[in-house]
Amino acid sequence: MTGGLPFLDAVPFVDLGAQQAEIVDEVLPVWRAQLESAAFMGGPEVDAFEREFADYLGVRHVIGVSNGTDALELAYRAVGIGTGDEVIVPANTFIATAEAVSRIGAVPVFVDVDDDHLLLDPDAVAAAITPRTRAIVPVHLFGQTAPMEQIASIARAHDLVVIEDAAQAQGAASAAGRAGALSRVAATSFYPGKNLGAAGDAGAVMTDDAALAARVRTLGAHGSAVKYVHDVVGVNARLDAVQAVVLRAKLRRLDGWNAMRRAAAARYAAMLTGLDGVRLPAVRPGNDDVWHLFVVRVDDRDRVAAVLAAAGVGTGIHYPTPVPFTAAYASLGYRRGQFPVAEAAAGRILSLPMFPHLSEAQQEQVVGALAGALRRTTERIAS
Ligand SMILES: *Cc1c(COP(=O)(O)O)cnc(C)c1O
Repeated sequence: MTGGLPFLDAVPFVDLGAQQAEIVDEVLPVWRAQLESAAFMGGPEVDAFEREFADYLGVRHVIGVSNGTDALELAYRAVGIGTGDEVIVPANTFIATAEAVSRIGAVPVFVDVDDDHLLLDPDAVAAAITPRTRAIVPVHLFGQTAPMEQIASIARAHDLVVIEDAAQAQGAASAAGRAGALSRVAATSFYPGKNLGAAGDAGAVMTDDAALAARVRTLGAHGSAVKYVHDVVGVNARLDAVQAVVLRAKLRRLDGWNAMRRAAAARYAAMLTGLDGVRLPAVRPGNDDVWHLFVVRVDDRDRVAAVLAAAGVGTGIHYPTPVPFTAAYASLGYRRGQFPVAEAAAGRILSLPMFPHLSEAQQEQVVGALAGALRRTTERIAS
């Protein structure tokens, strides 16, 4: 025997099993009724979810759609972004924020994030504005809201539209309101692993503007507000009725689950404080963070992640390559050094297990394994 560890269960990066168990009795009878009536497109569950999520966020209109990427594309198109327009997006985000810009013939212009929170940096935004800039897309990354007040004032000064990517922040809030209710139009994703997740792909567009909401709905239904009358070339991006059932059940529990994430984040902070070699995530003042991810920064990250994996602890990296340096965007010609914060962070960020039902015992196991991995980093550097 090497090592004296007692047998411990693996700690997965994400475990949604307990969430599904809480909703299964509520969902199955409605799914059965949907199957029996073949009511799959639109209908009362979709309408009810859209209304309930709008009330939850404090916006007038929610349009349920097929996924978060389509939600972004529809939001961009609905405000009139098109061929050749420039849209400012953060370098550290999931590629979908930029991908949806490219899909409508516009050009993503990547800017750096701030070192404390890895959120869109307002100074970098201001420096990237050109006569072709049409919009700014702050991403509420990892579960906390981007600095919307500063971004809004830059947008006002240059007559630009702000469009939130709220995919990682269902329930997050700043003093001004909830993520998804802080800009002219916002997009979110209900990918299963998000704080509010469906049983497959789903997403939504949010706005207070009735005309904009109608445009999103039309664009997402083959450019048609009236059946077989097609006003524009749209796409098919509707929310499935079966997903609305799951989303309604989970929305009722979202605040409770976010509170559990917050408690888990506080436990991590207490356990990790004083552990040399770990930089903890910071919460922006006034932010109500919903901890979609708990992202620490460590040296020699890939080796630390491998040691954790060997100890049965799942981790993630969000994201290993700044989007401008992915092969998909090589043609834009960005050079190393243009995003000092995002580039440095990409090599050090490590997302620890985080989900509502993560237990204190599981976290102790994570922190124990992390402490062991860091000790070995220190020893290697010393030897
Ligand atoms: C998940 C995510 C998206 C895309 O959502 P999909 O539903 O997977 O298309 C967009 N932006 C961010 C920041 C995300 O995390």
